[in-house]
Amino acid sequence: MPSPKRHIWVFGDYRNYFQNRVTLQLLSRARDLAPAIGAEVAAVIVGHDLDEYVGEYIAHGAQTVYVLDDPALKDYNIERYAEITARLSKRYAPEIILVGATVFGREFAPFLAKRLKTGLTADCIDLNINEKGLLVQTAPAFGGNLIADIVTPNARPQMATVRPGTFQEIPHDDSATGRVVRLPLPGDLPHPRVRLIRSRRLPQRAQRLEEAAVVICGGRGMGSKTKFKKLFELARLMEGEVGATRPVVHANWAGHDALVGQAGRHVRPRVLLSFGISGAIQHTAALANADFIIAFNKNPHATMMKLADVAVVADANQVCSALIRALKGRIRE
Ligand SMILES: Cc1cc2nc3c(=O)[nH]c(=O)nc-3n(C[C@H](O)[C@H](O)[C@H](O)COP(=O)(O)OP(=O)(O)OC[C@H]3O[C@@H](n4cnc5c(N)ncnc54)[C@H](O)[C@@H]3O)c2cc1C
Repeated sequence: MPSPKRHIWVFGDYRNYFQNRVTLQLLSRARDLAPAIGAEVAAVIVGHDLDEYVGEYIAHGAQTVYVLDDPALKDYNIERYAEITARLSKRYAPEIILVGATVFGREFAPFLAKRLKTGLTADCIDLNINEKGLLVQTAPAFGGNLIADIVTPNARPQMATVRPGTFQEIPHDDSATGRVVRLPLPGDLPHPRVRLIRSRRLPQRAQRLEEAAVVICGGRGMGSKTKFKKLFELARLMEGEVGATRPVVHANWAGHDALVGQAGRHVRPRVLLSFGISGAIQHTAALANADFIIAFNKNPHATMMKLADVAVVADANQVCSALIRALKGRIRE
């Protein structure tokens, strides 16, 4: 049964999850806005093999997650995804639907808004609630010469897309609880007019190590040039960049450009994975601005393990190979 409580919905855009946290950022903003209209915050997620994301959304602020998880939805198909979401929206009548302004969201949100016969403000740079309880959607207008506050007074839901990075996500809270509403795949979905034949990831764009959100750093503990190469594969899958310690660069397992430390580059990723690195000050001095460090080392007493937010006593190579296997199974290339 539809809940009588008002809802703000965030559409779950889980593609490129490691780089792109826009869904979590929107959940956070939705939680800020919700008290002003007495609403609950819900995420809606459509696709297949979604349990991990459901847990993530709850840990980052979703009070309810509507899940439509079915093998038939494994590949993104705009007609089906929009039809499903439109039906759910008609059934549960959310006040607001927020979507990330990703490549996916920029296609999906207008399509959905059209189905729901409502307005949509694209690429918002701020969201607020005004004294009438309406969503104020702040977005650049007229070629960026003006900043406009836009409201949707009559049609519902009020819809907006927001660029990644506009809001801060709520930190992961393992103890958070939420309601999970699992819904069956409707039997009468329109037959998709577009069929996915094959997809493959574009070759990674070169990005500067200093600007990468994910940095994979490898040290002498990787063992050999051949083994070190696997870090590049892991970085590709995580859309990150590879950094290296000085012995690695001297052994020519990686180029000098990859050197992280006093004599090399300083990094400030959201996540840094450190493989087989002892943690000498000349290296760690360049990691001070990393948000979250996970270290893998055979030696639990290595300095790097003490500095890390999560320290895993393990063989660096085995972990790297296992991560590659796991990601290849999950990422839809
Ligand atoms: C003037 C100066 C400037 C320097 N500038 C830099 C710099 O900019 N950047 C830099 O990195 N260094 C720099 N150094 C060198 C620095 O002092 C360290 O020697 C270097 O950082 C150590 O690199 P490492 O951790 O890869 O190797 P090591 O210190 O040899 O550590 C290897 C680690 O791998 C672990 N290990 C081994 N096998 C495995 C396995 N199978 N699985 C998991 N873990 C394993 C070991 O327990 C160990 O902790 C500089 C030094 C000097 C003197």
